[in-house]
Amino acid sequence: MASPSLTASTRRAAILVIAHLAAASPALAQAAPTGATSAPFWTGISDAASFERAMSARLAHAKTLLDQLLAVQRARTIANTLRPYDDVLLEIDAVASQAQLVQSVHPNEPVRQAAERVSQKAGAFAAELSLNRKVFDALNGLDAKAADAETQYYLRRTLRDFHLAGVDKDEATRQRVKALRDELVLVGQDFDRNIRTDLRTVTAASAAELDGLPADYINRHKPEAGGAIKLTIDYPDSLPVFSFAKNEDLRKRMYMEYNNRGYPKNMEVLSKMLAKRAEIARLVGFSSWADYITADKMVENAKQASAFIDRVVAASGPKAEREFAALLKRKQQDIPGATAINAWERSYYAELVRKASYDFDSQSVRPYFAFDRVKQGLFDVTGRLFGVTFRPLAGAPVWDPAVEAYELLSGGQVIGRFYLDMHPRKDKYNHAAEFPIRTGVTARQIPEAALVCNLPGGQAGDPGLMSHDDVETFFHEFGHLMHTLLAGRHQWVGISGISTEQDFVEAPSQMLEEWTLDTSTLQTFAKHFETNEPIPADLVARMRRASEFGKALGVRQQMVYARLSLSVYDRDPASVDTTAMIKEFTNKYLPTAYVEGTHMQTSFGHLDGYSAVYYTYMWSLVIAKDMFSQFDRNQLLAPAIAAKYRDTVLAPGGSKPAAALVRDFLGRPFDFAAWEAWLNRD
Ligand SMILES: [Zn+2]
Repeated sequence: MASPSLTASTRRAAILVIAHLAAASPALAQAAPTGATSAPFWTGISDAASFERAMSARLAHAKTLLDQLLAVQRARTIANTLRPYDDVLLEIDAVASQAQLVQSVHPNEPVRQAAERVSQKAGAFAAELSLNRKVFDALNGLDAKAADAETQYYLRRTLRDFHLAGVDKDEATRQRVKALRDELVLVGQDFDRNIRTDLRTVTAASAAELDGLPADYINRHKPEAGGAIKLTIDYPDSLPVFSFAKNEDLRKRMYMEYNNRGYPKNMEVLSKMLAKRAEIARLVGFSSWADYITADKMVENAKQASAFIDRVVAASGPKAEREFAALLKRKQQDIPGATAINAWERSYYAELVRKASYDFDSQSVRPYFAFDRVKQGLFDVTGRLFGVTFRPLAGAPVWDPAVEAYELLSGGQVIGRFYLDMHPRKDKYNHAAEFPIRTGVTARQIPEAALVCNLPGGQAGDPGLMSHDDVETFFHEFGHLMHTLLAGRHQWVGISGISTEQDFVEAPSQMLEEWTLDTSTLQTFAKHFETNEPIPADLVARMRRASEFGKALGVRQQMVYARLSLSVYDRDPASVDTTAMIKEFTNKYLPTAYVEGTHMQTSFGHLDGYSAVYYTYMWSLVIAKDMFSQFDRNQLLAPAIAAKYRDTVLAPGGSKPAAALVRDFLGRPFDFAAWEAWLNRD
């Protein structure tokens, strides 16, 4: 479902891997000993120098493999050409993904800086490879007729990706594309760093200004000597303010800081990003970056992405109007004659409507969602669904003492490893995302991945009581994790893991969110942190009903982001005024007006990582709703359908087009019926 918290909808991301060399995204880049290995990736790494050394060794190995591939004199075969090519990818994939993670999460600045340098080198290697005519000719000369279907598909897709990268352009053009790609890595790093390190705060004059906020929130925020209380804009501090603070001025000040993270620094960075991408698209033969980046997606081109956004906007109109009317009516109880809702009032009044009309107070579920219990519950639920078990890996080397390592087992065999870095920390990536670390290859290396979140908890004495929205975020990211790890048994890196079309990637993650609204699922783990009483069925029923309220406005908010993401990339960048666009789309799609002086684009990390394709969330949601319709809502933990889903959708990874995976599961192409039914349900 779309995030019920109207302010939080951009906070989930999947960091995609570089496995498709297709030009698409330079920041897609994704550390350890050289070659296939199943040791934890942080083994032997202790500082910036050892990290850089390990990564350089991998890149040097990739270079050696590439030279061997090119030196082949005999007839080109899968074994002497595609195998070394994929082994080159194995190294770049590991270096790029590990550098991306480390630059986002490592507590020490020198290590983060080293990781940024490594990312630049990996990006440069990948860009050069994607434009290497000799490698393309070698792959293009392969006779794959006798190969298995996966290998044939992989080869076809690889050749297409080389074309998209511009391999058939002249030398000067390819050099220019390569230079732009290298520059884009730097620009993307600047963009992310400016978001990560903009540590804004809002000051409440006294505890009285926190009126309405939960008791544990107030306990966590003790006044300083003069009585003032400092709040950060990080999620555990800011989101409760939007929903619960009775003090409108506090909410407004928080809204202004929250929507100016990265401003003004990222305005110029963003302009550079748009210009460089537009130039790449033009050089490779596309009219815009939006057309270029959609060419390898399910949606196929920018025009269809735009039509999809229009369709979603139209479908959500009537319910969005009803929801707005309910918000306004509630506000009029406080302020008779009010005719508008300000952006910083949306979550607050939505909360009050849910209380009054649905008898649901979102605070009432938090005692059932202590972080550790939810974590164990998620392991148990996904274990039952997907036939796997989880085992803590004590003593595994990690980048921060707060990080936990686990093994994933199936049939008694370790099939993957993952890391949980779940709570806020200074200078850490401040959204929620899954970071692939290493792609699985059958009989050679198990996959590794990390979840990086900013959820409550992690401090001594704090039970980490989560909102339902937090629980949903945890399930969402875990959905990416399961996809990455369960798809980790293929013979080629390039089609293993989540190397599927990017506009399908958010389907498995959004699917798993569904289980957070199911009574029997919740009752397996959502137990009161003090009394151990399971969450009452009628409370879940009221929560589920209340979750129907605000959906359409949430969808409209998503379409503001989707339209912004597409529009900044579908025209001449010289004509793009990002602030004017946000204003236009906000005022067009939402009943709450754009707030002058806000610049959400400067912390909209997706403009780098997803570029023009933010629509993918809703596109994937349409598919997720359709796939979920196959499950029996009265028996969501029933194993047979879940096993079919695992085997036909998750495990294949990128070894087939996403549309084929969906067809294998549904027995037909996906349609909008289940999504529309969900959207219009009151
Ligand atoms: Zn996601």
